[in-house]
Amino acid sequence: MRAQVLHAPNRAEQRPLAWEDRPIPTPGDGEARVRVHTCGCCRTDLHVIEGDLELPVLPIIPGHQVVGTVDALGEGCTRLRLGDRVGVAWLHQTCGVCPYCRRGEENLCERARFTGWTADGGYAEALTVPEGFAIRVPDRLSDLEAAPLLCAGVIGYRALRRAEVQPGDRVGLMGFGASAHLVMQVLTYWGCDVVVLTRGERHHDLARELGASWVGDASELPPGACDRVVVFAPAGELVPVALQLVRPGGVVSLAGIHMSPIPTFDYSLLWRERTLRSVANMTRRDADEFMALAAEAGIRAEVERYALEDAADALIAIAHDDIRGAAVLAVA
Ligand SMILES: [Zn+2]
Ligand SMILES: [Zn+2]
Repeated sequence: MRAQVLHAPNRAEQRPLAWEDRPIPTPGDGEARVRVHTCGCCRTDLHVIEGDLELPVLPIIPGHQVVGTVDALGEGCTRLRLGDRVGVAWLHQTCGVCPYCRRGEENLCERARFTGWTADGGYAEALTVPEGFAIRVPDRLSDLEAAPLLCAGVIGYRALRRAEVQPGDRVGLMGFGASAHLVMQVLTYWGCDVVVLTRGERHHDLARELGASWVGDASELPPGACDRVVVFAPAGELVPVALQLVRPGGVVSLAGIHMSPIPTFDYSLLWRERTLRSVANMTRRDADEFMALAAEAGIRAEVERYALEDAADALIAIAHDDIRGAAVLAVA
């Protein structure tokens, strides 16, 4: 099969992925092999190829928003059938027995494996996944529009839950990439008022089209406070701004896996029971809930399509914050 393989991290502009022939993987016990139709590109892929995340497994094939068809099953599979259309997301496998797994916090499992980081991902024509970690994809979502839902959507949804968003809340979104433009549609569906703070005219336009009541960059704040704020941009300097924006008793959740250092800030920004939270990974429950919600609410990903061969171009565009919505690799 053809695959984009990372041997050593480097800046996106240096195009560290190698376009290679690799043996098609054989599913092990309890695993399914998935023929990749589409794979979304996530900012986390950029953190992988650029080495912002520690890379315990090299070489590695990135990509963790995969939609494809099961074309082989290992011994002992009972859940999936050949020909099933499934998604493969960031959470590749957990241990199932540690205290986190037993508490239903499998996103925190210390022995978890992650697709496209510590297990080969979907920048390839095929990959394998433990069958219990394959995500059902509702029929009404196309391959292209389902892919970015699997991380941008699912983790964005988890960030909303971590921010304890209630229907009708006023919610601030900081950064407006793949995740925020999906989350925005959930918030609208829930009857929330959404303000968006982001850089770039294209992001401003998309936020307005999707119904934001106020759009600007973080140099000015909208009038009035927000009940919840979600920070998508990987910029630590936005954290004090987010705390300035949220009302007493409100919550700020940080949706990224990587963030530049957070500057010191005065305690008065946190005082009066404001809460600041990170969002780590995802659970299968998050994925099932969000995929069902996406189908019910008619959530549509705005997609920029790239060939698998051109994955480097997609990643450079993400690095330059130059994607309207989400970048998706059309593989087959
Ligand atoms: Zn565990
Ligand atoms: Zn992701």
